[in-house]
Amino acid sequence: MADLQLSGREAPAVAQDGVWLACIECGQAFAPFAEVIYRCADCGGLLEARYGEYPTWTDFSGRGVWRYAAALPFDSGVSLPEGDTPLYEVPGLREDLDLRALRVKHEGMNPTGSFKDRGMTVGVRVAEEVGVSRLACASTGNTSAALAAYGARAGLETLVLLPTGKVAAGKLAQAAIHGARVLEVEGNFDTCLDIVSDLANRGEAYLLNSLNPFRLEGQKTIAFEILEDFREEYGAVPDRICLPVGNAGNTAALYKAFRELVESDSLAADEMPKLTGVQTDGAAPLVEAIESGNEAIERWDAVETKATAIRIGNPVNAPKALPGIRETDGTAISVSDREVTAAQRALAEEGIGVEPASACSLAGLRKLRERGVVDGDERVVCLTTGHLLKDPDAAAAAGSDPEPVPGDTESVLDHLAE
Ligand SMILES: *Cc1c(COP(=O)(O)O)cnc(C)c1O
Ligand SMILES: [Zn+2]
Repeated sequence: MADLQLSGREAPAVAQDGVWLACIECGQAFAPFAEVIYRCADCGGLLEARYGEYPTWTDFSGRGVWRYAAALPFDSGVSLPEGDTPLYEVPGLREDLDLRALRVKHEGMNPTGSFKDRGMTVGVRVAEEVGVSRLACASTGNTSAALAAYGARAGLETLVLLPTGKVAAGKLAQAAIHGARVLEVEGNFDTCLDIVSDLANRGEAYLLNSLNPFRLEGQKTIAFEILEDFREEYGAVPDRICLPVGNAGNTAALYKAFRELVESDSLAADEMPKLTGVQTDGAAPLVEAIESGNEAIERWDAVETKATAIRIGNPVNAPKALPGIRETDGTAISVSDREVTAAQRALAEEGIGVEPASACSLAGLRKLRERGVVDGDERVVCLTTGHLLKDPDAAAAAGSDPEPVPGDTESVLDHLAE
């Protein structure tokens, strides 16, 4: 079982400015910026950023991701700027689901249209610190869009590996216009990540997938924003946060934010919102692990879903995310593509436009509510991860068809009267 305890950790000799990397499996500590490292050199375990001190609420000031600099390895970075996303009220859905409170945190409102920007502003800052010239990622689309934009802004070369034919049009267009070199790989996302990890290990590029522990540092700010907004609004933190799961980076990042707040006595351990991961039936290895009580995930070689952002069979951050779901008393559930589309439409009826993967959070919540797993007394946040326009084809297919009419007012009136 991964060791995710933060308490009682003294800064090791390798720490730089009070920051170090620790292996979550064997505990070995590594210098964070002196060398490029993505996994434990001793056992191959995942790495986690650790600090000599963890911030309290009053240490936060300013706006966006960098408001939370006290919880990040640097004070600023290449910024477009990101974060400060809306926590929408959804009265119709709240009533329909019969919940005490329901809010939608729309991460599609970030500069490139997904939460990936939060991780990228920190990740690119670290890349500058370690002094690399080429950034790279494997992507189901949104990571490549963010990498291309932030890399361009930083004046760094960017390389992205995508699964051929499985990336939504909007995301591909973003990577292209921001000047990334885009390689279409025969195979799925997991194949792309295997290759780009090899390239990174050979020193060919700096890896900015969520295997990179600093990406997750940036993504912690989603949790900080939700908790700050909620405390202001309700005087309490939410009971539950539902989110789509691909590589499980966000699940891991939210859990890390909670642990840091507990560490600084800013949150009680039994107050941590229940992390509730949602996947689709065609790509649900994490749900399988939670349902079967397995310690580790079994890789799914064949995955298929219309929610292309989470078409992932080998969630790389599972060793960090599974304990997060279990320790917060959360759960995981899978939904069908049809349920995803229904949830995408339901959000659209509230004026909120999200891409298919993002709608999973609501689809999963509905299912858990129907099964009685989620109580009506709960205050819940659904995280929507990407913007509607990321996947215009899915949006058009989920919406109603345009109606052809002749080009004169009388015909239009006749048509409307039909
Ligand atoms: C990347 C992404 C996800 C998956 O997030 P993980 O942190 O990998 O679990 C979900 N939805 C969208 C829109 C994404 O871009
Ligand atoms: Zn190790």
